[in-house]
Amino acid sequence: MEKIYTIPVNDAYNEPAICPLCFLKNKAESDYLDYYLGPSLMEPDTRKITNKTGFCPDHMGKLNKREANRLGLGLMLHTHLIDIKSDIAPQLQKTAPGKGNLLKGRNTEYKSSLKKLADKIDSRVKACPICEKLDYTMDRYSSVICWMFSHDKDFKEKFANCKTYCLPHISALLRACADNMSQNDAADFLPLLSSGVDSSLTELISDVEWFTLKFDYRNNDKPWGNSKNAIQRSMRILSSDRSDFDEKQGKSKQ
Ligand SMILES: [Zn+2]
Ligand SMILES: [Zn+2]
Repeated sequence: MEKIYTIPVNDAYNEPAICPLCFLKNKAESDYLDYYLGPSLMEPDTRKITNKTGFCPDHMGKLNKREANRLGLGLMLHTHLIDIKSDIAPQLQKTAPGKGNLLKGRNTEYKSSLKKLADKIDSRVKACPICEKLDYTMDRYSSVICWMFSHDKDFKEKFANCKTYCLPHISALLRACADNMSQNDAADFLPLLSSGVDSSLTELISDVEWFTLKFDYRNNDKPWGNSKNAIQRSMRILSSDRSDFDEKQGKSKQ
């Protein structure tokens, strides 16, 4: 198995506080954001793709937040907007149906072409080379985790001690297990996964409950325990790690 995958997987399982796949995803995403803001943004092969795809809303926001290579981003957006205009605007102009009249009756064909164009616009909004690369890399990581579980005793022990998986990545591991593991290995893998998930959910449920009970004035003076960031941790478990779940932001909004 290639070391470019196994080393980061080991690193991720050395971080006890975060879902290891979120850890891997954050690292890979950050590398791709740097890549697209770096010299590659001006390379003809990359530009050919980004002129067509642009970036999805999530990654456009993240590229913008880095405040790097504004010129490159501007040049890319310029050609991307031209591509969008030449693709979408003419079709949009053709959408209006003629007015119905008694002789010709009503024409409902335009409705399906409205929906077709709407689908096309939606898929162009979603198109993103960073998402595409991330999906590929995360699939690789999930299969590598399965491979390492079956072939690397030390890793198997690390896996057994890991309790922090988010829901989207539990699903990724289940798919990877179905695609990559022998039945015997799956018989070892799944109980470890499920007991880790069970204990982390049990802990989180009681932390969130205590978070809500702290709003009762009678609990004012009692200690927060692990509950202070229970909302952020719940969101992380339910929908994977995102920077907008940061504890600091959460605190300022409370
Ligand atoms: Zn995760
Ligand atoms: Zn994206």
